[in-house]
Amino acid sequence: MPNSLVVIGAGPGGYTAAFRAADLGLNVTLIDTDTKAGGVCLNRGCIPSKALLHAAKSITEAADAKNMGVTFNTPSIDIEKLRAWKDGVVTKLTGGLGQLAKARKISFIQGEAKFLNATTLEIRKPDGIIEQLTFEHAIIATGSRPVELSFLPRSHRVWDSTDALTLPHIPPTLLIIGGGYIGLELGTAYAALGSKVSVVEALPSLLSSADKDLADIVIRRLKKTFTAILCGTKVIKADETSEGLRVTFLDDKNQEKQETYAQVLVSVGRKPNTHDLGLEKTSIKISDKGFIEVDGQRRTAEAKIFAIGDTTGQPMLAHKASAEAKVAADAVAGYPTEFAPKCIASVVYTDPELAWCGITEQEAHTKGLAITISKFPWMASGRAMTLGRTDGLTKIIADTKTGKILGVGIAGVNAGELIAEGALAIETGIKAEDLELTIHPHPTLSEMMMETAEGLFGHPTHLLKPKQ
Ligand SMILES: Cc1cc2nc3c(=O)[nH]c(=O)nc-3n(C[C@H](O)[C@H](O)[C@H](O)COP(=O)(O)OP(=O)(O)OC[C@H]3O[C@@H](n4cnc5c(N)ncnc54)[C@H](O)[C@@H]3O)c2cc1C
Repeated sequence: MPNSLVVIGAGPGGYTAAFRAADLGLNVTLIDTDTKAGGVCLNRGCIPSKALLHAAKSITEAADAKNMGVTFNTPSIDIEKLRAWKDGVVTKLTGGLGQLAKARKISFIQGEAKFLNATTLEIRKPDGIIEQLTFEHAIIATGSRPVELSFLPRSHRVWDSTDALTLPHIPPTLLIIGGGYIGLELGTAYAALGSKVSVVEALPSLLSSADKDLADIVIRRLKKTFTAILCGTKVIKADETSEGLRVTFLDDKNQEKQETYAQVLVSVGRKPNTHDLGLEKTSIKISDKGFIEVDGQRRTAEAKIFAIGDTTGQPMLAHKASAEAKVAADAVAGYPTEFAPKCIASVVYTDPELAWCGITEQEAHTKGLAITISKFPWMASGRAMTLGRTDGLTKIIADTKTGKILGVGIAGVNAGELIAEGALAIETGIKAEDLELTIHPHPTLSEMMMETAEGLFGHPTHLLKPKQ
């Protein structure tokens, strides 16, 4: 078929690439082992986790309302209904993608694809039938899957993130192994639903990719939400007993301790789905961590095969996958293009949220950059006060010489929404002065961005000037 493109994997990377390529006039085939497009993000990642987190937020906001004199009864959780609502959100979204694909005349094939060589795929369909497909261009977007801990018993008491998101039941006690964003988000959801949640993390602290002053705000509240947070500690063993899983911990002082949990959730990272793809039949190179090596257009060592999303490395995030997808599709269609973002925002959807983009303060210091920092504590925000959520901080890092915004970090409710302004500032190369002069609506959480920028010039309206 002339100018044919096959996209393997229909997650946010794959479906975005397929849609873009079809809009540019290519003949597109989209393949996924799942029945519908959506990938991890829609089916067992971003969307179901945020649906559960929204339910959690309703519960915690109702409980916090007592501080304003509004008291609700203890909520009763209809788990069947909650599960059905969450699944309904996913079904609507994946159904919508199906319609968008059909309207664009993209052929969708359900099956597992493998390379036979650099121009042919073998596709194993769910009924066992194997077909071959020849292509002119291919985009690999097969995503990633959870890392397993082989020493844990095979047990219904051990979940990965996919299991936890199906909401099988609300365990009385839940141990989360791994304090990354996935574990903390799922822990936040299950704690609000009634589980006593403990988190164990091998590193000395949680959320160590973000600046400590921002992470500390989130950790302070998580310490109240969770029953225990064990940092600098590893799980070395777990035995099934009639009461639950008896877990053995080893801390950084080599002390062992044991505790029993009804349920354990393993969230120790994700690995790319690149090993069973037949890549050895092509000249595509993969790193020792399994990530596919690509150039600025996301082209692999095979000139007509591209790779995007979680298969190409960190950050393993949906918005990075879809941004790479557009670049790869444009490149296949022959347009000059490059994946060269100035920043990719990270968001942790805990309560409160934590978001940052561009350089962090710790990175700036490591690189020896001349920076000016301004911080605006949410205690000084009228809007934060009206929400009863003054536990927040907005922080801007600017280049001392040029005034350009290099980094933005926000801890606080809705930080995930607020960070987009920071990403825009960094991507467009605007200066602190531009942010300061942009009139933000009042009263909003967003106006703290303007006031934080004012702080860089020493005159934030709602904070006192630091004494000289
Ligand atoms: C619990 C959880 C929460 C998350 N929350 C967020 C969030 O809030 N924000 C965010 O940005 N990211 C989040 N992520 C990460 C996000 O889901 C991934 O970064 C994103 O889905 C990667 O997109 P992708 O297109 O590369 O691959 P995926 O979404 O992983 O899709 C890959 C697809 O390829 C298919 N596939 C694999 N092998 C084959 C094969 N051989 N043949 C055919 N098809 C194949 C798979 O079935 C899958 O459908 C979360 C992840 C998890 C697990």
